[in-house]
Amino acid sequence: MFEQLGLIGCGLMGGSFALALKRAKLVKRVVGYSKSPSTTERARQLGVIDVAAPSALLAVSGADIVLLAVPVAASEATFKAIRHGISADTLVMDVGSTKGDVIEAARNGLQKQFASFVPAHPIAGKEVSGIEHAEASLFTGRQVVLTPVKTTLRSNVQRASQVWSGIGANVVTMTHEEHDAAFAAVSHLPHLLAFAYTNALTGQPQGDRFLSLAGPGFRDFSRIAASDPVMWRDVLLANREQVLQQSQAFRKALEDLETLMTAGDLQGLEQSIAAASKARAAWKPNSSTDALAQQDS
Ligand code: NAP
Repeated sequence: MFEQLGLIGCGLMGGSFALALKRAKLVKRVVGYSKSPSTTERARQLGVIDVAAPSALLAVSGADIVLLAVPVAASEATFKAIRHGISADTLVMDVGSTKGDVIEAARNGLQKQFASFVPAHPIAGKEVSGIEHAEASLFTGRQVVLTPVKTTLRSNVQRASQVWSGIGANVVTMTHEEHDAAFAAVSHLPHLLAFAYTNALTGQPQGDRFLSLAGPGFRDFSRIAASDPVMWRDVLLANREQVLQQSQAFRKALEDLETLMTAGDLQGLEQSIAAASKARAAWKPNSSTDALAQQDS
């Protein structure tokens, strides 16, 4: 059991982690800090945190476990702000959707305390953000990817794994390169396409009319376009190389389909659709994809 969680970023993910730890009786006290004092105060009123700290540094002072749950672009400044409150015994984690950039941010920000940091990405979430939507069961049965580097304290990787398992998550470990390449393909590109598609639709003179006629195909394809703009701006920029690479592959596949359509190539078009249909039908949902309402970011 941990004595004190220092939570930086009292939003959906951070709040849910605090609630989950409390529910599992894995922590005695949660001290939280968020950019806006009103958010921190709301988290306290909701019982997500026990004490509202006036700064990130004060939130982590005396904490034996620290969680950063801020937009990924705010990581380096946050790591810098808490550096002097971290000791060799502190377990520091994040929940960012991208890992290579957060690891760099931690290396620069934490400096000598970098080894204490275990990068983590829970494959769970919602389209809605904010403390009001935090829930203790958000990570139950979901995957959490840990991406330690060579210098990460092994003891902290073990502790991180135990904490996430203790709140019901399934822990997977991989390199940050593998993580960022995989999630560019299965999460970041789909979000990019959903944003582009929705803008293309609503940007047309008859967009509203078309939208009023939309059915399940539109609902399923566009659900993730309703995601948080700040979070997704940061994710797409942080992992831009991998996402642009995936986007190029997508463009090529789209062009191939357009060419078949232009040529009226009945057989070619059917074969191409059949290949996609077979691949999608064979895909087995994992523990992080079995609830439609969850976001796979
Ligand atoms: P959120 O609900 O908007 O919460 C983010 C919190 O961070 C807000 O309370 C915000 O405070 C605070 N914050 C922003 N900048 C800060 C700073 N510089 N210092 C301290 N606090 C700061 O967002 P979220 O969905 O929890 O996302 C948090 C992280 O989780 C992101 O890195 C995201 O990549 C990752 N993630 C999200 C999902 C998802 O589905 N949502 C899934 C997996 C991973 P204010 O309220 O004061 O602005």
